[in-house]
Amino acid sequence: MPHVVTEKCIGELYAACIQVCPTEAIHAGKYKGQDFMVIDPETCIDCGVCLPECPIGAIVPGDDSPEWGKINAELAPQLKNAPKPKPRPTNDPPRNAKNKLVK
Ligand code: SF4
Repeated sequence: MPHVVTEKCIGELYAACIQVCPTEAIHAGKYKGQDFMVIDPETCIDCGVCLPECPIGAIVPGDDSPEWGKINAELAPQLKNAPKPKPRPTNDPPRNAKNKLVK
């Protein structure tokens, strides 16, 4: 089961995860008009390296969020050739007040 990006990522786009993924499975784009990232289940090898990189804990194992797994899978084909975003510093405060830095 691939890892998935969840709703915490909406509007954040730290993109630290993109730097470490060994299979380039993580892509950036928009979800309902806001910045978002997805993990492509076709290329994710479930290594878990990306999970601790997200400063707000937006990435979870797929088993923990089937709902977002479906959204990641649906968006991945259209985002897989999108340009890579410039990462934000991981100590940059979250834009969404509901999110908290976890690392
Ligand atoms: S679990 Fe591994 S392969 Fe899958 S997106 Fe994260 S870093 Fe990439």
